[in-house]
Amino acid sequence: MRRMIQPIRVPRNIPEWQQALARAFTRASDLLDFLELPRDLPSLPPVTARDFPLRVPRAYAARMRKGDPHDPLFLQVWTQVAEAEHAPGYRNDAVGDLHTLRPGGILHKYQGRALVIATGACAIHCRYCFRRHFPYGEVLAARDHWQNTLRELAADRSIHEVILSGGDPLSLPDEKLAEFAQALEFIPHVRRLRLHTRQPVVLPERVDEALLAWLGRGRIRKVMVLHVNHAQELDGTVTAALARLRRAGVPLLNQSVLLRGINDRPDRLIRLSEALGDAGVMTYYLHMLDRVQGAAHYEVPEHEARALLQTMTVHLPGYLVPRLVREDPGAPSKTLLAG
Ligand SMILES: *Cc1c(COP(=O)(O)O)cnc(C)c1O
Ligand code: SF4
Repeated sequence: MRRMIQPIRVPRNIPEWQQALARAFTRASDLLDFLELPRDLPSLPPVTARDFPLRVPRAYAARMRKGDPHDPLFLQVWTQVAEAEHAPGYRNDAVGDLHTLRPGGILHKYQGRALVIATGACAIHCRYCFRRHFPYGEVLAARDHWQNTLRELAADRSIHEVILSGGDPLSLPDEKLAEFAQALEFIPHVRRLRLHTRQPVVLPERVDEALLAWLGRGRIRKVMVLHVNHAQELDGTVTAALARLRRAGVPLLNQSVLLRGINDRPDRLIRLSEALGDAGVMTYYLHMLDRVQGAAHYEVPEHEARALLQTMTVHLPGYLVPRLVREDPGAPSKTLLAG
């Protein structure tokens, strides 16, 4: 007897974005083949990068120029040999986060704002990431249904804004995130929920109905801070995802990291600001690189950074000039350098 029903390969209840996440490039040779780059392009041996391996979603790789080892998106994700070099002054815990960590994965360094390490997972592995050596296993806030985190937040009435960070908080399923947002509604001193995420940019499929549903609900204002470093990261799929977020009433801001060979030219930074402006995103911060071990080859010196900001200020409306900041361990806020 012929079977009329085809087996369903993918269970229907797995959201499309999780399937896209599972298809990300994790093998150097696959990425190199896709980009038509030579297989022998120098790279860190996979064993050396074991704790923070190569990871690039296909949607992001699709925006890279084929055959160009200096492509500004490729350079953000490629495991370069220089990562293994020991650079003096570069540490595993670049901004002193481990000293300030409270129960429930809470980092409370600045007045009124508590940052929650929700998860260690990211859709993409940015090689310059300041949390690339973070011992996530010990802190994950979401693991116990947020119980410790919520208890801490409820007990401290000085906290008006909760920042979900990580890793990338949008790596968590929407049920888990909605559960947290819902519980925050019952903590009267919390007014805003901010999400620090790169997923709408690197995995635009992530901005689906389930995400928009909980973002648009409730008393607490949701604010999203994206992470884009180069205008080439913003293609039509991303700007469409951002438009969906804005329609749901979520204000969009962007933070970038100033990166050697990627965006350390005035024309590139200006084009980035213009592209963000076109997508309805305000430029918030341009970060000096945090001195994390393995990222020294990305650093841009401070005098160059200040000069870049000066040029941006001349060419752009004030609201598209980001603030140039540095994170100094122990300081009561980010340190403003220019902007
Ligand atoms: C950067 C950061 C914040 C947010 O600072 P803003 O200047 O408000 O963007 C909050 N908490 C921690 C621990 C941070 O590192
Ligand atoms: S997405 Fe953010 S947290 Fe994740 S690796 Fe990139 S910079 Fe780090």
